[in-house]
Amino acid sequence: MYNLPSDLQATVVDYLERHLDAYIDDLKALVSLDSYSYDPAGVNRVVDWLEHRLDLMGFEVERFAAHERGDNLRAVKRGRGARSVMLLGHSDTVFPRGTAAERPLTISGDKIMGPGACDMKGGLLAGLYAINALAEAGFDNYGELIFLVVSDEEIDPRQSIPLIRETSRRADAVLTLEAARENGDIVVARKGMRSFTAEAFGRAAHAGVEPEKGRNAILAMARQVDALASLNDPTRGISVNVGAIEGGRLRNVVPDYAVIRFEARAYDWENLKAVTQAIESIFERETVPGVTFKLSWMDASPPMPRTPEIAALEGMAVEIARSLGFETRGAQPGGTADVAFAVDEGVPALDGLGPVGGLDHSPDEYILRSSIAPRTALLALLVAAICQRTP
Ligand SMILES: [Zn+2]
Repeated sequence: MYNLPSDLQATVVDYLERHLDAYIDDLKALVSLDSYSYDPAGVNRVVDWLEHRLDLMGFEVERFAAHERGDNLRAVKRGRGARSVMLLGHSDTVFPRGTAAERPLTISGDKIMGPGACDMKGGLLAGLYAINALAEAGFDNYGELIFLVVSDEEIDPRQSIPLIRETSRRADAVLTLEAARENGDIVVARKGMRSFTAEAFGRAAHAGVEPEKGRNAILAMARQVDALASLNDPTRGISVNVGAIEGGRLRNVVPDYAVIRFEARAYDWENLKAVTQAIESIFERETVPGVTFKLSWMDASPPMPRTPEIAALEGMAVEIARSLGFETRGAQPGGTADVAFAVDEGVPALDGLGPVGGLDHSPDEYILRSSIAPRTALLALLVAAICQRTP
C-alpha cells in the first residue's frame, strides 16, 4: 500500500510533457559523445556531463577511477524521508569513437535513433528528468536518492561490481534504467549465468596405420556435448548452450585435444547449483576409454528471481502505469543485467524503467519518442510510491 500526494501525478506528468524537447536536446548531446567501454576519455566526457548536471540538481557526486575504464559515478541527494531508492545505469556503449559523427541522433516518425540512444543514454536521462519532476512537485520524502552510473557494463571483466553491490545495500529498492522492452514490458526476473570451459585430453595416433593406439578427444567431447544439451529444461527455466568447440588439427591424425565453451542459466541459485552438479557428473564419466576431462567454471551473473518483494514492486508499477493511462507487465527474460547484483544483495529491484526501445547494439537502435514522458512519469511516481509505502 502507498499513498501519493494528491497533485503529485499531475505535476510530474505536466513537467515531463513540457520538458520533452529539452530531454531530446539532452539526448542529442549525450549521443554525440561517443563512450565506447574501451575508450576511457570518451566515457569520461559522458561522466563529466552527468556530474555537472547532478551537481546542479543538488546531488553530492563521487567519482571512482577504474583501471583503463571511464570513471564510475555515484551521486547522492538527501531528503527528509526514511526510505532510499537507487537508480542504476551505465555510461558506456558498444560503439567505438567516430560512430556518433557517422550516425548522429535522428528522429524518424516516433523513433529516435543514434548510438546508445536506447542502451542507455535515454535511460540515464529518464533518471535525471524523473528526479527533476519530483523536485518540481516539491517531493522530498526520501532518505537518499542514489544515482549510480558504472562505466563497464558492456564488457568483461567487470570492475564496477563491488561498487554496485556495496551501493545497493544502502537502498530499500533499486530501479534500473535499461529500456523497457519493445512490447512495453518492464523486467522482474532475470536468469543467472555460469560460464564453463571443458577440455578433453586424448592421445594422437596415425588414423590409417594404427588408429587403435589413438584416444579420440573430439569423439569423447562430442558425446558430452550431446549430454549437455539434454540438461535444457524450459519448464524449470534452465538453459544450457555449448557455444564454441575446437579440437584436432589434421584429417589423418586421431585428435588428442578438444575444448568447448558453454554456459548454463537459471532463474535462481537452487536451479543454477543443480544444473552445475549435473554438468560436473557428466564430466566425471568416461565417454571414450582413455580420454580425460578438465572442467572449470565461473559465475558471470547472479540470478534475479522474482521474489515476493519484487512482485510487490511490480504490482506498484503496473498500478501506476494504469493510472497514467498505459499497460505494462513484468517480463522474465533470459538475459543478464546489472540489476541482478542488487537483487543478489537482498535488495528488491525492477529493471527496464527507461523509455520503450530496442535493437540495442545495432545501427537501428531506437527509443520511442511517445514513450519518454509516460515512462519517465512511471519512474518518478515509482520512486515516490516506494518512499510513501506503508508497511
Ligand atoms: Zn548493452
